[in-house]
Amino acid sequence: MRFEALGLSEPLLKAVADQGYDEPSPIQTKGIPLVLEGEDVMAAAQTGTGKTAAFTLPILEYLSTQPKVRANHAKVLVLAPTRELAAQINESVKTYSKYLQTTSAVVFGGVKINPQMMALRKGVDILVATPGRLLDLYNQNAVKFSDIEVLILDEADRMLDMGFIHDIKRVISYLPKERQTLMFSATFSDDIRNLAKGLLKRPVEISVTPRNAAATTVEQFIYSVDKKQKPALLAYLIKKHDWKQVLVFSRTKHGANRLAKFLNGREIQASAIHGNKSQGARTRALAEFKSGECRILVATDIAARGLDIDQLPQVVNIDLPHVPEDYVHRIGRTGRAGMTGQAISLVCADEVKQLFAIERLINKEFDRKIHDSFAPVNELPPSDISRYSSRKKKPKKPKAPKDFDTSESPSQNSRRPRRTPKSATTDKPRSNSNKDKEIKSEENAPKQRKKRYFRPKKTGSYKPS
Ligand code: AMP
Repeated sequence: MRFEALGLSEPLLKAVADQGYDEPSPIQTKGIPLVLEGEDVMAAAQTGTGKTAAFTLPILEYLSTQPKVRANHAKVLVLAPTRELAAQINESVKTYSKYLQTTSAVVFGGVKINPQMMALRKGVDILVATPGRLLDLYNQNAVKFSDIEVLILDEADRMLDMGFIHDIKRVISYLPKERQTLMFSATFSDDIRNLAKGLLKRPVEISVTPRNAAATTVEQFIYSVDKKQKPALLAYLIKKHDWKQVLVFSRTKHGANRLAKFLNGREIQASAIHGNKSQGARTRALAEFKSGECRILVATDIAARGLDIDQLPQVVNIDLPHVPEDYVHRIGRTGRAGMTGQAISLVCADEVKQLFAIERLINKEFDRKIHDSFAPVNELPPSDISRYSSRKKKPKKPKAPKDFDTSESPSQNSRRPRRTPKSATTDKPRSNSNKDKEIKSEENAPKQRKKRYFRPKKTGSYKPS
C-alpha cells in the first residue's frame, strides 16, 4: 500500500515524502480511510506505530478544505496526558502541514499562560492540549469550544492512570455533541472501554498489535541483581558496551535523581526527567538527550510517556513498574517504526511479583542473566509461565455502561439527532466494542467519502480521490 492510495492530497503526500516514509504503517493504512470518512475510531496502537500521523494526516486533509477558524476558537482538539507528548504531537502537526495553510497551537501547564492566550486569539485549526491547562484557558474565555468538530484522545489509558478522568469529562461536557471522536490507547482496559462508551458513537475498532504485546524487534532480557548493586551494574554495562543513548526508567522521582547523580559521579552524563522538574528543565533535558549531548536520560513513567526519540537503541528498567502495562509502554520507546532495540531490566528479589505479572501480561518468560561481579545474594525464584496460563480467571460481572454527566453544560443537554454513519446502513461489519476485533486493511480502502455529519461543508473543493 502506498500513501497515494489513501486519499491524501498533494501537499500532505509531499510532506510525508519529505519525512522519508516509504509506505503507511498498519495503523495508518487502517485508520486514515476511516478518519477521512468521518467515523468514530477506537484504536489500540502502541506508541511507535505511527499513530500520530494516522490521525493527523486525515484531519489535515479535512481541514484543508474548510473555511478559516474564528477568533478564540479551534476546530480540532487533541488531548494528551503529558506536556512532552502534547509538544511532540504539535511538532508532528506542523511537520505534516508544512505545505498547507492550517494552523495549530499547543497548550500545557508549567509555563506562563499569557503567550498561550495570545496564540489562541486568532483561533487555531488544531489545538493540542493537556486537560488541566485547557480548562484554565476555557475558564478564562481564551478558548471556545463551540466550533470543535473533532476530538482526539491520545494515550487515553495513560490519561486515566494519571487521574485526568474528571478533567476529561469536564472538557467533554463543554464540547458540541455532534463531533467525530477518535481514541488512541496502548491497551484497552475495562476502564478505557467504559470511557469509550460515553464518548464515542458506534466506534470502529482497530488494532495493530496483539493486546499488550511488545514490538517483536525489541530484544528483552533481565539481569538478576541485588537492589543496592543496580546503579553499579548499570554504570558497568553502559561503559562496557559503550552505550551512547540510554533511556532509563525509574519508578520514583527521587530514584531518578539519585541515579542521575550516581552516573554523573562515574563520569557518565545523565539527566533526570520527572514531574517535579520545571518545564524548562524537562524540555532542556529532552533536547540534550535527543541531540546526543546527554548520554543517559533517567525518567519516571509519566514523564517518559509518549516520548518519540528517533532510533533509540537501549531502554533499561532500573526497577520494574508496579503496573505491568507500564512495562510495555516503557519498552515501546525502543524498536520503533521497525528498528531493532534492546530492553534490559535490572530485577531484584523484592520485585518478583512485578516480574511475574509482566511475564503473565506479555505471555513470555524473560531470559535471565547474572553478571559474576554483581551476582545477587538474594536470588530470584524461577518463573513458571505455564502456572499462570492454567489458572482459571474468575468471570467478571458485566458492568452497566455509564454515560457522562453533562449537566454542567445546560445548553448542550438536548441532543441533536446524529446522522446515521454510512457503515450502519450497509452490510459492512462493525467491531463490537466489547471485542478487540481487528479489521482488515483491505476493507478500508478509501471509498467515496461521506459528508461529515456534524457540519455541512462550506467549500466545494473537497474531491474524493
Ligand atoms: P508515533 O507512533 O506516532 O509516536 O510515531 C513513531 C515514529 O514513527 C515517529 O518518529 C514517526 O516519524 C515515525 N513514522 C510515522 N509514520 C511512519 C511511516 N509511515 N514510515 C516510517 N516512519 C514513520
